[in-house]
Amino acid sequence: RTTVKEYGFELLARSHMVFELQGALDTAPAAGATAQHGELVAHYQPQVDYAQGRLIGMEALVRWRHPSRGLVAPGSFIPLAESTDKIYDIDLRVLTQVCRDMRSWLDAGLPVVPVSLNFSRRSLLHADLLGDLKRLLHTYRIRGELLEFEVTESQLLETLELVSPRVAQLRALGVRIAVDDFGTGYSNLDAINSFPFDRLKVDRQFVHGVAGSERVAGLFRLIQGIAELFSAELLCEGLEHEADLAWLAERGATRVQGWYFSAARTSEEIVAILAALRARGSGAAPLTIPEL
Ligand code: C2E
Ligand code: MG
Ligand code: MG
Ligand code: MG
Repeated sequence: RTTVKEYGFELLARSHMVFELQGALDTAPAAGATAQHGELVAHYQPQVDYAQGRLIGMEALVRWRHPSRGLVAPGSFIPLAESTDKIYDIDLRVLTQVCRDMRSWLDAGLPVVPVSLNFSRRSLLHADLLGDLKRLLHTYRIRGELLEFEVTESQLLETLELVSPRVAQLRALGVRIAVDDFGTGYSNLDAINSFPFDRLKVDRQFVHGVAGSERVAGLFRLIQGIAELFSAELLCEGLEHEADLAWLAERGATRVQGWYFSAARTSEEIVAILAALRARGSGAAPLTIPEL
């Protein structure tokens, strides 16, 4: 049982973190500065097609470069931000960095692949999102097709009547929609089928250890069948082991993301990866996997 005293501490800790998050959001990167000057930065995790040996995209994952606590993972501040208005500011900050990074990569002649961004439901439904997105696409001269918005299955289905029209507006700008952490939400298949989406991201729990467990394998096959039914592209998250990769590849699930290939990298590291790809011809040139 939580005592009043413990509850008081928790309340203080939470409010202190909200205060610090506001501080982090206030440390806006100065005009002309690189994105790396702010406390909130996006790192990028490569997504590959194993069969083709190609880099097919990257997922932007936010990190908080806290002045005293070091690099803080999103799991310890996104849930809190989601319960306040801070989440939109964070998601917009990441979107801004991604557009700016992509423009600098394009200007440098690097082979650019689409970038996936995580949007919390609150941000997806925010009244300013379409205006802010159009402004950023215009300012940085980025095609909507180069962006994908990921929303978790459970958050997408929470208020479907609001989410559906917003998804349609985003897709009209060319932005792709991915259902994230698939298999961990309500799995209301009829509801999911009621709006168009482009990609289904299989949650790590149906990928990790799939080669060694009948149960996990059965669930994975089920999810693969659902993606086929919806004509959505399948991408497997959290791939760590070669045995799982071999199992997945044998079943045609060759689009993967995970530590086996690469963890999330800083934008400087991504520049080096893209430059290495360019040296070999183009973004579509084969990679020798895993060497990301
Ligand atoms: P997610 O979107 O499902 O992202 C995948 C998470 O799995 C990331 O954790 C990634 O670093 C981690 N991961 C990647 N490969 C592996 C692997 O092989 N094994 C394991 N065990 N983990 C792997 P991260 O970066 O800590 O992000 C956690 C969650 O925070 C994300 O889950 C996403 O829901 C949320 N998030 C991250 N960035 C943002 C953001 O900019 N905005 C919002 N709203 N949410 C974000
Ligand atoms: Mg994601
Ligand atoms: Mg996920
Ligand atoms: Mg997740």
